[in-house]
Amino acid sequence: MYTYSKTIPVIAEPDVFIAGSGSAGSTAAIAAARELQGGNPQAKVLLVERYGFLGGTSTAVLDTFYGFYTPGTISKKVVSGIPDDVVAELRKLDRVIERPNTFGAGTGVTYNPEYLKVAWERLAQRAGVDLLLHTFVTDVVLEGDRITGIIVDGKSGLGLIRPKVIIDGSGDADVCALAQVPFEKAGDIDPAQTLTTTFKLANVNVAEARKFPRADFLARMGEAADSGKYDLPRREGSVHITPIEGVMATIMTRLEVADPTTPRDLTSAEIEGRRQALEYERFLRDYIPGYEAARLVTFSTQIGVRETRRVYGEYRLTREDVLGARKFDDVVGLCGAPIEDHHAGASTKWLYLPDGATVDIPYRTLVPQKIENLYVAGRCFSATHDAHASVRSMAQCMAMGQAAGTAAALCIIRNNQPRDLNVRQLQDKLRKTGAILETPEAHESQ
Ligand SMILES: Cc1cc2nc3c(=O)[nH]c(=O)nc-3n(C[C@H](O)[C@H](O)[C@H](O)COP(=O)(O)OP(=O)(O)OC[C@H]3O[C@@H](n4cnc5c(N)ncnc54)[C@H](O)[C@@H]3O)c2cc1C
Repeated sequence: MYTYSKTIPVIAEPDVFIAGSGSAGSTAAIAAARELQGGNPQAKVLLVERYGFLGGTSTAVLDTFYGFYTPGTISKKVVSGIPDDVVAELRKLDRVIERPNTFGAGTGVTYNPEYLKVAWERLAQRAGVDLLLHTFVTDVVLEGDRITGIIVDGKSGLGLIRPKVIIDGSGDADVCALAQVPFEKAGDIDPAQTLTTTFKLANVNVAEARKFPRADFLARMGEAADSGKYDLPRREGSVHITPIEGVMATIMTRLEVADPTTPRDLTSAEIEGRRQALEYERFLRDYIPGYEAARLVTFSTQIGVRETRRVYGEYRLTREDVLGARKFDDVVGLCGAPIEDHHAGASTKWLYLPDGATVDIPYRTLVPQKIENLYVAGRCFSATHDAHASVRSMAQCMAMGQAAGTAAALCIIRNNQPRDLNVRQLQDKLRKTGAILETPEAHESQ
């Protein structure tokens, strides 16, 4: 142990501070800034991100938004508002592909993540969000039951931020954990979801590859794995088209990692993830028509982490709530996505809600216990392992972000704390800004 004391300069005093710019954090920042600009032009919203771009998993790992639509035979659009603005901004920059009912997860919205980086920053800047990239949240200052300071680190050293309301959009609930909010860590109770290094292949004969039936694709993957010449831990990984000609994207590798919040475990996972990716690339070239001349062009910027800490909030969403499509008075978003559990082993577990149904995301799942001026949004929200495995899709993370950001702004405008905010007024605001809070009837489906 080494203890030192140092004076840390105050670098910002925002009204709303957001840690992490994933689908949840970026949407929260845009929502808060839009809401506050209407009420108070001087109000400040600061979004801090450790990487040099916005988007988190949406730009660093993936290329398909799921959760906008219910899966199954009745496809209803259940997320709207700022998430639609994100897709519209993307469409201005590039082609966006709607892939119908892929994998039973509902219609997927596939994009080029490099353009999404630009779309996120344009929307954030247009809304008036103050952006601080290359900045890591490392600690909090607690006074009683409030966070009065956030300590960040960067090339210029430590800095102290003094926010009024905080939204933890770090995916790993870093702020909540530092503030000693109780949480469950993936693996504590149920086996944790596995991790995946995604990769893309260029120079694919896409027409040939798409003609090859999925059942045959899976049979060949099994054959290659059984031959002992390829190390393919997941035998049903997917590969899909992208907006770029000749480029296919994969979700194939599978890693069990003891604790993805520790740099040691993440280091070995990154290395192992890339090793596995090369095995899958070799399999595709050797076994699947259309890939003969393919070459790997990118690994995900970092390994994809599905779940780590899940905060204990005023309510915890459960498996029964999801599968029973439960309604809540304090609904702030909807989810029709199945429980999609990427557990260890060769397959993935899928459990569906009734066809066309949705579960409500309650406001209380965004309000962490113990601390007064704090929200959580995105994959670290308050849910059990199974409920999280449904509600973690990016459209739902954006819906949670829109709710948390709007709520944080209302707290500033009305001088409320998250726990005593009038949820009816929040719901009115959300509806006015396009959010969907009631399951649409079948005839409204798209
Ligand atoms: C392999 C994989 C495949 C998936 N497939 C799909 C799919 O196809 N479609 C879909 O909709 N969903 C999919 N999901 C789920 C979905 O992508 C995630 O649940 C969602 O993107 C999480 O968003 P988030 O905003 O909560 O967190 P994240 O996207 O993880 O964002 C957190 C952000 O916080 C930043 N951050 C973290 N800690 C700090 C810190 N201390 N200081 C500063 N910044 C910090 C990170 O850099 C990041 O930008 C998948 C997930 C994985 C891992």
